[in-house]
Amino acid sequence: MSLQGRSAIVTGGSRGIGRAICLEFARQGANVVVNYAGNATAAEETAQLCRQAGANAIIVQADVSQAAECEAMFNSALEAFGKIDILVNNAGVTRDTLIMRMTEEDFDRVLDTNLKGAFLCMKQAARLMMKQRYGRIVNLSSVVGLRGNAGQVNYAASKAGVIGMTKSLAKELATRHVTVNAVAPGFISTDMTGVLSDAVKESILAGIPMGTFGAPEDVANAVAFFAQESAGYVTGQVLCVDGGMAV
Ligand code: NAP
Repeated sequence: MSLQGRSAIVTGGSRGIGRAICLEFARQGANVVVNYAGNATAAEETAQLCRQAGANAIIVQADVSQAAECEAMFNSALEAFGKIDILVNNAGVTRDTLIMRMTEEDFDRVLDTNLKGAFLCMKQAARLMMKQRYGRIVNLSSVVGLRGNAGQVNYAASKAGVIGMTKSLAKELATRHVTVNAVAPGFISTDMTGVLSDAVKESILAGIPMGTFGAPEDVANAVAFFAQESAGYVTGQVLCVDGGMAV
C-alpha cells in the first residue's frame, strides 16, 4: 500500500485512533494535516512522529462542529500542500449516561462533534474533490452505531448517522471518482475507552469473540485500505474492526 504524493486531513489526529491513522499515512508517504480541538501538545507530538517517518506534517486547531473553523482548516491544508486527496472524519467525543440523566447539552455536544462535524468537513472536501475528480473520504463510525448501547443514546445516534451520511455521499460523488466509506471500530484502547471502569471493560470483553481489545493501529490499517487509489471501486461500505463483536 502506498499514499506517496497524496495529502490527507485527519480530524482529531492528535491522539488515539487519529494519531495511528496519521502515522500510517505518514509511513505510506502522504502529507498529513493533524487536526485537534484543544490538545496542541499531543497534536505536535503526532506531527513530529509523522516527520520522523519522513512525511510532511502540520497541525491545525479547529473545532469540527464549527463551520468557519472547518473552512479555515481546509484553507490551511491547501496553503500547505496544494490539494487534499484524503479526508478522515475521526474527531469524536462521548457523553455517556442513561437517557433519564442525559441533558440536551450532552446530546447536542456529541451530535455536533461526531455527526455535524463530519458533515461540515465532507462539505468542504466534496467541493474540492469533485473538482479534482479524485478523493477518498473515510468516516469513523462505531459498532455502537450498528447495534446500539445502553447509556449511549447520543453517541449511537451520531454513529448511525455517520453511516447514513457515508452511504448517501457515496452515491452523490460516485461518478467523480470520489469514494466515501466508513470504519466501525469495536472496543479500541484509547483515552476515550480508558475512562471506563474495570467492571464495564470486563463485560465488554466477554462479548468480543477474539477475547481482546483492539489497538488504534488495527483501525488505522482499515482506514488506510479505503484511502488507497487501488480501492477506487469500493464505496459506501462499512468495515467493522471489532474482533468479531458485531457478527
Ligand atoms: P480519543 O482518544 O478520545 O481522541 C479524540 C480525538 O478527537 C482527539 O484528537 C481530540 O482532539 C479530537 N476531538 C474531539 N473533539 C473535537 C472537535 N470538536 N474538533 C476537532 N477534534 C476534536 O478518541 P479515539 O478513541 O481515538 O476515537 C477516535 C474516533 O473513533 C472517534 O470518532 C470515536 O467515536 C471512534 N471510535 C472509537 C472507539 C474506541 O473504542 N476507542 C470505538 C468506536 C469508534 P484533542 O486531542 O485536541 O482533544
